[in-house]
Amino acid sequence: MASNESAIVLKPRCIICKRRDRPPSVEHLFAAGLGVHADIVLPRGAECEPCNNHGGRQIDEALVHLPEVQLIRGVWRVPDHKGRTVDSLELSEGTLTFDERGAISVVVDREGAIDVKDADTIVVSITTKRRNSGDQWRRVARAVLKLGLCTIRHEYGEEAALAPELDDARRAIVGDAYTGFLLVSSLDISKSPAFSVTVMADLPGMVDAVAFSYGGLRLGADLGLGAASVETLQWADTEGLDHIAITPRTSGTMAS
Ligand SMILES: [Zn+2]
Repeated sequence: MASNESAIVLKPRCIICKRRDRPPSVEHLFAAGLGVHADIVLPRGAECEPCNNHGGRQIDEALVHLPEVQLIRGVWRVPDHKGRTVDSLELSEGTLTFDERGAISVVVDREGAIDVKDADTIVVSITTKRRNSGDQWRRVARAVLKLGLCTIRHEYGEEAALAPELDDARRAIVGDAYTGFLLVSSLDISKSPAFSVTVMADLPGMVDAVAFSYGGLRLGADLGLGAASVETLQWADTEGLDHIAITPRTSGTMAS
């Protein structure tokens, strides 16, 4: 019998492990813990179940638990997929509490945290108890790379996402040591928590720059991996982005 190629429907290949033979899963572009409801979903099987589960535990959680993300969710009353909101945040100096109207109260129990400047100005210095560790930044960097890869799959299809040029990024996403960087903005809490992720080929010194924003938090990484070039660092500086180096030996360290 003559083969009829048009009748052959191949199962999609996983964008992480490139295999076709593992149980398929449905990858949600944005982790449910970020509180997204208008979700973007990749075609079933674009990511296999083992890769999806592994990524969820290791890297999506790191992103979800960034103090900046918890703060955005608290202030903007963003429920997660189960309807849970962030109602308080533990601080080194006390507790931050959010109410339904978006009002924030701070209970400070450390001496020196409050500085009365004059009759009109009181400065309260607070630090979130859950500090961003190097390991957390490293995982967040992997989460941003994965968002980029998923975006390529979503916008340009399977062939683009499976390109050999992205294999090093794939290995970085699953946890292989790599050299790269993460760009992080300071948090502008006044911006409403909308999501966007774009992959850009024309940013200084970068191959496939991934730009992720969640409200007033912006994160960036390069799917091309490698240390940040001088052009990239200069560009990041003009954009108000801090640079965190990701190196194979040490965990991510914040440059001063
Ligand atoms: Zn896979």
